[in-house]
Amino acid sequence: MDQPLTGFGANALHDSFHRMFDRSRDEAPATLELRLDRLARLRSLLTDNEKRFEQAISSDFGHRCAVETLIAETLSLLGDIKHTAKHVKRWMTPRKVKTELQFWPGQNRLIPQPLGVVGIIAPWNYPLQLTIAPAIGALAAGNRVMIKPSELSPAFSALLQETVAAKFDADEMVVTGIEDGIAEAFARLPFDHLMFTGSTRVGRIVAEAAGRNLTPVTLELGGKSPTIVDRSADLDEVAPRIAYAKLMNAGQTCIAPDYVLAPRDQVEPLAEKIRAAMARMFGSDPANADYTSIVADRHYARLKGLVDDAAAQGATLLQPASADDAAWSSRRKFPPTLVLGATSDMKIMQEEIFGPLLPILGTDDAAETIRFINGRDRPLALYWFGTDEAARDEVLARTVSGGVTINDCLVHFAQQNQPMGGVGASGTGAYHGEWGFNTFSQLKPVFYRSPYNRFADLYPPYGGKIARL
Ligand code: NAD
Repeated sequence: MDQPLTGFGANALHDSFHRMFDRSRDEAPATLELRLDRLARLRSLLTDNEKRFEQAISSDFGHRCAVETLIAETLSLLGDIKHTAKHVKRWMTPRKVKTELQFWPGQNRLIPQPLGVVGIIAPWNYPLQLTIAPAIGALAAGNRVMIKPSELSPAFSALLQETVAAKFDADEMVVTGIEDGIAEAFARLPFDHLMFTGSTRVGRIVAEAAGRNLTPVTLELGGKSPTIVDRSADLDEVAPRIAYAKLMNAGQTCIAPDYVLAPRDQVEPLAEKIRAAMARMFGSDPANADYTSIVADRHYARLKGLVDDAAAQGATLLQPASADDAAWSSRRKFPPTLVLGATSDMKIMQEEIFGPLLPILGTDDAAETIRFINGRDRPLALYWFGTDEAARDEVLARTVSGGVTINDCLVHFAQQNQPMGGVGASGTGAYHGEWGFNTFSQLKPVFYRSPYNRFADLYPPYGGKIARL
């Protein structure tokens, strides 16, 4: 519409923010019709440019499996938009709240209001999903939106900037550039809400910058998500589910299983089944189009560093090829690697892996498994496999994580009616569906006094009016 498409330097950033900010204070809240129209424009932005997004994301990765882009980004977002458009009328309607007896016949209402201007900082791993999904909630709640995509997704970022500019006015939604310094300047803007998705390390920096403005934040961070295979689990069923969740997007998924805890005597048979499932799904040919590349050389080197460190300290690696093999490394395809015998001293058990490496560790019993998890940062996701309901409930009760899927991985993310978010070091706040709408709204409690309320009876002089029973 009327947006500049050139680089987005610090001046443009400030001008854009202040224009949105002023409009958000001067104008009446967006009507239902306008919100639905914005959602419809978001939908057509996705459908009109589906192939272009797929190609841009793939070129940023080196290679991104097209089906993964379709499932985890485009279709997932179209589902979110449909769900939101269906329910937004109800979500934005003032909600009735019970009134305690002594305030009768006054009434309570909770009135959802747009906050104003929402900032969104996104990572590169699902660049479309993690810029647009928060925008759906923010626009549905009647806000104006500024998006700062990742510098590791340049082709995607340019395309998002172009397509958003084509569908939205500059005071509705804009996408910034990714030049040096933009990220820091963006986090310093006094947004009405700032949504950050990325690493725990940068999350701390962003929270600090936002704190100076008292800007509320939603932090969607990372961490090490454990996967527990209980003794009651059927390993043949478990193995392909873990293998798929680990290798989707080559493990560059915030809620990917980071490591597996299994009964000590089942580690080897489980590892063999996961290895076989990985080979069945993705083969051992690095040219396989279903297998996504690692996004950048430095991340390939980081993953190789984790594997080398583990091997140097005595871990056993199961992999179809070495990460040095040119057929793999030239495509930045990292050979899927299972790591047996990993210990807490190894980097692979200290850092979020964020790649196709899977340590499988043995424990003696459920108590040790729970202690292991609780001795570390609160994870973003936790997975539990088995049929023993008492064992399952014990883990659910004794561990705290952002979300859980039982007998599968990743699937809790796709639930429209459940909040998505972390806890502790894996994040704060949540979004998706109505949870996102609420996150980006001021849910304003309003009490309507009735002419028949007798509060005046209690005004001073108190005398003996107020007696404690
Ligand atoms: P990152 O933290 O390096 O970068 C995320 C974003 O922050 C990028 O847009 C980057 O430009 C920006 N940024 C960097 N420094 C900044 C600063 N000083 N001020 C403001 N912004 C700054 O993360 P990444 O490598 O892009 O993504 C991977 C991480 O994201 C992993 O830890 C992963 O677990 C996490 N993640 C979490 C979720 C979730 O939903 N919880 C989803 C996807 C990824």
